[in-house]
Amino acid sequence: MEDLAEKITNMRRKYREIFLTTVDAIKQRVEELRPENLKGDIFDTYAKNSDGEKWQIAVLDMFENDISHEIYRKWNEILAFRQNFSCKGCATCCNLACSEFSPEQLKEKAKNGDKFAAQFTSIFIPYNSKEEAEKVYPEYIQLLGNNLEGDVYFYHCPRLNDCKRCSDYENRPQICRDFPDNPLSILPESCGYYEWRLQVEPVALMLHSMMEIIDYYKQKLPSLEDKKVRG
Ligand code: SF4
Ligand code: SF4
Repeated sequence: MEDLAEKITNMRRKYREIFLTTVDAIKQRVEELRPENLKGDIFDTYAKNSDGEKWQIAVLDMFENDISHEIYRKWNEILAFRQNFSCKGCATCCNLACSEFSPEQLKEKAKNGDKFAAQFTSIFIPYNSKEEAEKVYPEYIQLLGNNLEGDVYFYHCPRLNDCKRCSDYENRPQICRDFPDNPLSILPESCGYYEWRLQVEPVALMLHSMMEIIDYYKQKLPSLEDKKVRG
């Protein structure tokens, strides 16, 4: 059986392959918008109202009104497909939730109106130590420790009973019902959504790469941001 480290390595490899294919696909769409006879690169500096500038504006418009909508629609399809699967109550996600934010930071975010942080802090409490969390899912914690820069904080839900079941499963909060809402989350094989994640992973990786590439283009064309056509 593939171990967790192997799964993550494989996912990164798949992502690199998908990313390169997506770069080419987006480049092609950018080229399709190139005005006839225009020489030069999409990232060159062009004179105001020139064909080059119009090209750049058309590209930004395509990102905003075409590709972004495509990403949104496909992402929603992935989430709708999730309804074919269900929670098996294995309690792994109740026993171990990770955040890049400390309990204090989460409370501050909740106070400032962050709804997710508010729900999270209303359910989860921090483990006393990394070692305590490690007992729950050692392989995962070790992997995070070896691969992540910056801090990771580990939490658990006190509503789990001694049999490691939710003591009020029928009335569990929305955040629990929605988990996992990211098809790229690492899930244990015991999770009822594991198969969902497996099936949608290629599309989710492609959408993620599209977002990353669009961001890159947008950052390289900053002076045109205010001129693009708004949808
Ligand atoms: S409320 Fe229940 S379902 Fe939600 S995290 Fe706690 S134990 Fe799990
Ligand atoms: S890890 Fe998956 S199956 Fe287990 S409790 Fe969480 S959502 Fe349910």
